[in-house]
Amino acid sequence: MSDHREDGEGLQAYYDEALRCVRCGLCQAVCPVYAVEQSEASVARGKVQLARALLEGRLEPSPAVRERLFLCLNCGACTANCPSGVNVAKLMLATRAQLLRDVGRPAVEGLLLRQVLANPRSLGLAGAGLALYRRSGLRWLAHYVDALATLPAGLAKAEAMLPSRSRSRPRVGPAPERPRYRVAYFAGCVTSVLYPDLAQSVVAVLRQEGCQVVLPRGLGCCGTPHRAYGDAAAAQKLADRNTRALNEASVEAVVTDCATCGAGLKDYSGLRVPVYDVSQFLVEEAGLVAPRRPLAVRVTYHDPCHLARGQGVREAPRRLLRAIPGLDLVEMAEADRCCGGAGTFALTHPETSLRILERKVANAAATGAAIVASGCPACLLQIGYGLGRLAAGGQDGPREALHPVELLAQAYAPP
Ligand code: SF4
Ligand code: SF4
Repeated sequence: MSDHREDGEGLQAYYDEALRCVRCGLCQAVCPVYAVEQSEASVARGKVQLARALLEGRLEPSPAVRERLFLCLNCGACTANCPSGVNVAKLMLATRAQLLRDVGRPAVEGLLLRQVLANPRSLGLAGAGLALYRRSGLRWLAHYVDALATLPAGLAKAEAMLPSRSRSRPRVGPAPERPRYRVAYFAGCVTSVLYPDLAQSVVAVLRQEGCQVVLPRGLGCCGTPHRAYGDAAAAQKLADRNTRALNEASVEAVVTDCATCGAGLKDYSGLRVPVYDVSQFLVEEAGLVAPRRPLAVRVTYHDPCHLARGQGVREAPRRLLRAIPGLDLVEMAEADRCCGGAGTFALTHPETSLRILERKVANAAATGAAIVASGCPACLLQIGYGLGRLAAGGQDGPREALHPVELLAQAYAPP
């Protein structure tokens, strides 16, 4: 059930949460941002004290305070490891909502959240524009004439993170004549805009496993980015629209390939259809019944924060990978440590994000794996960027970041 105290009762409802912090500092050990920044403002303890000072009127809301509270990946590691049970994640979301009301936000943030992500037509146009840019030679030309040097830092980083490779598109077989399940596929914004080939893999795999896949009309962004930025009203509007579309779709399950969307959808109140991460659905519900051919490749798996801590889904993607004959799954150190992507964190805090990413990529490279698999397209974007830098620097390491379902789709393809 959704916990939306931040929407109605405001930050005051979280005062008890802030009081529970005994300032033990144990959150320091698990905070990826603290490991890089080494400042009290970057760790949960410091942020909880900031929230408390705001509540007690000892601190005036200001853009500077907002900036300090946004120096956070919202990865949930502190919440999961806090011995006092402080729900840091919820407290941060509530504080951000309060600060949005009190001090507003940068115009570009409002534009992105309200005009682009919240509007399927704008999102579709953005996706088409980006596809044209990546595939038409425009991107090559922009690099060739060094046009990117004139872009603001955040935009230049966003351009650098665009996936460069064109993945092999799996064949999507016909819909099964006697489907075992009828499921709705929720393809989130990142998949829709940047990874249409991943969406194709999801549909191919679900069909291969005997599912009828429907794409309900009227779906849009899950609203998680809006909630993360404190815009609870916009998030709720999106949740209501998606809930209506999914409830009317006459399906047995909602399936998504995006860890963030999955966590957001599972938090909707009023949704009458169960939501599954695609690996969870395939392994725990449908079962993998279609024949698979061997894939002789070493793979390591990165746990997305919103899948591992957000939904408690850790084993299903690993079981899915192990179900591919010949695939050698090796664990990396700190597999569930955030990769540093965290939505727009990689763009708003490029240096911090990069240093967090370098640790992730080094851990992946140490396994000798050729591929990093991860159950979240946003993590694939960030890790793929890190692997690209590794290759450009001439260093050994995995060369590709793929969703587990993309590997499964390859294992279904004829040899
Ligand atoms: S681990 Fe929990 S109680 Fe300890 S300082 Fe961090 S937030 Fe406070
Ligand atoms: S959510 Fe993650 S990044 Fe933010 S304070 Fe907690 S551990 Fe650090």
